[in-house]
Amino acid sequence: MTVCLEKKDFEAVGVVAGFTRDDPVMFAEPLVVIDSRKVTGGELFFALKGEKTDGHRYVHQAFERGAACAVVNREWYDELGAAEKEPGFGYVVVTDTVDAMQQLARLYRSKFDIPVIGIGGSNGKTTTKEMTASVLRSRYKVHMSEGNLNNHLGVPLTLFGLRREHEMAVVEMGINHPGEMELLTAIARPTHGLLTNIGHEHLEFLQDLDGVAYAETALYRYLQKHHGVAFVNREDEWLDKAAAGLPGTVSYGNRLDANGVWAEDIRMDAAGKALFTLCCPAGTVSVTLHFAGRHNVSNAVAAAAVGLFFGLNPKQIAVGLEGLRPQKGWKRLEFQNAGGITVVNDTYNANPDSMRQALDLLCELPTSGKRVAVIGDMFELGESSALEHRAIGRYVAGLQRIDSLYTFGEQAALCCAEAGAKCSGHFTDEEKLREVLSSSLDPGDVLLLKASRGMRLERFAEGLMASD
Ligand code: ATP
Ligand code: MG
Repeated sequence: MTVCLEKKDFEAVGVVAGFTRDDPVMFAEPLVVIDSRKVTGGELFFALKGEKTDGHRYVHQAFERGAACAVVNREWYDELGAAEKEPGFGYVVVTDTVDAMQQLARLYRSKFDIPVIGIGGSNGKTTTKEMTASVLRSRYKVHMSEGNLNNHLGVPLTLFGLRREHEMAVVEMGINHPGEMELLTAIARPTHGLLTNIGHEHLEFLQDLDGVAYAETALYRYLQKHHGVAFVNREDEWLDKAAAGLPGTVSYGNRLDANGVWAEDIRMDAAGKALFTLCCPAGTVSVTLHFAGRHNVSNAVAAAAVGLFFGLNPKQIAVGLEGLRPQKGWKRLEFQNAGGITVVNDTYNANPDSMRQALDLLCELPTSGKRVAVIGDMFELGESSALEHRAIGRYVAGLQRIDSLYTFGEQAALCCAEAGAKCSGHFTDEEKLREVLSSSLDPGDVLLLKASRGMRLERFAEGLMASD
């Protein structure tokens, strides 16, 4: 049995300004595409207007490649030449294609009476989503967001991936503006939700931690209103506070909570694995994660809390957690070997919290060689950028086990200035830093690379590996 989107569904969401086909517009298990290059035949193409480009420019290409139908803005459609308005082309003309996609996704999602687990929070959403799905898959057929598709477009696209056979969905929800979580919950209608933590994210729009906490915990408020279940990280003081007195909560992270789930005896090995004992009322089990860092243990505990709630036992949960490996190019604490030098590639993204965590991990890794960090700029910190970069410099200065720090980028210069003797050099020239790294690193050393995505610090790992 398939799930369909029909003409009446388009009409029901109230965004249709007109159809150009009289035949029943029907999409069985809709394949929704917003990138015309991904059209292979039979898809519903949404022409979205973004900052960089306008999908309407590619409607023609989408049809050429076999799209069944294009959802387009009325403004654009009205300017189309008569020849292009051939009835053979299936246009759905709407007032706003983004809104249309969101509303249709919402309606499509409502055709599935299954648990939908929304995963938000400042850091660790994708990792927690992958871990949660990996755990739940030992018993259920789980749909989850692909990669990092977590925003006002990614969430609808994820929902369109739901199929009749799915028994659960794990949906990542990422926000950077106030009010966005409200939008995402309205679209995805989660029955269950989890916020990983509250940290310094998108402060240019969310202002401060209070702002972040308020914006993210809209997920809790939604769940409360709709009698859903929130998995609450009791280790996070903001979340703990926000969930105080809320009905329908399941706690994790706090060992003082006898009914909760938590981790004990956390250790890191030299190969980038985190080891710990998972404790819960149903017993204890040892877990070896293929992910490094204490924060990933926290992500794993979150996934375990969800697994337990849905009836899995500790052993099944351990198997689910241990079965997950970082994909190639994961770039989140990815361990790589460059001629005997261990490179900890954490160049996926960075903010002050994850920066400190990566530095802590570097200190904790067993090694006989040097521990070296290359830090680049952290973006999106708004007015607190200089302050935060300086604070990271002071933090490094206090870490005895780090042997040297190199900084790269404009803001990172402030880290270097504050790190004092710990900072062995600040660089703006890529080649110079490359040279210094190749001449100063020896086999057995550990090198951490950490910055915001745009800094592309992984190029220094590539450099080291190329010079093997
Ligand atoms: P994005 O906002 O890009 O979607 P995300 O929330 O999905 O990020 P991940 O992609 O899972 O997060 O991890 C990104 C980085 O966040 C990791 O490289 C790590 O540095 C940090 N991180 C992951 N989990 C946690 C956590 N529980 N607490 C703090 N930092 C974390
Ligand atoms: Mg993510």
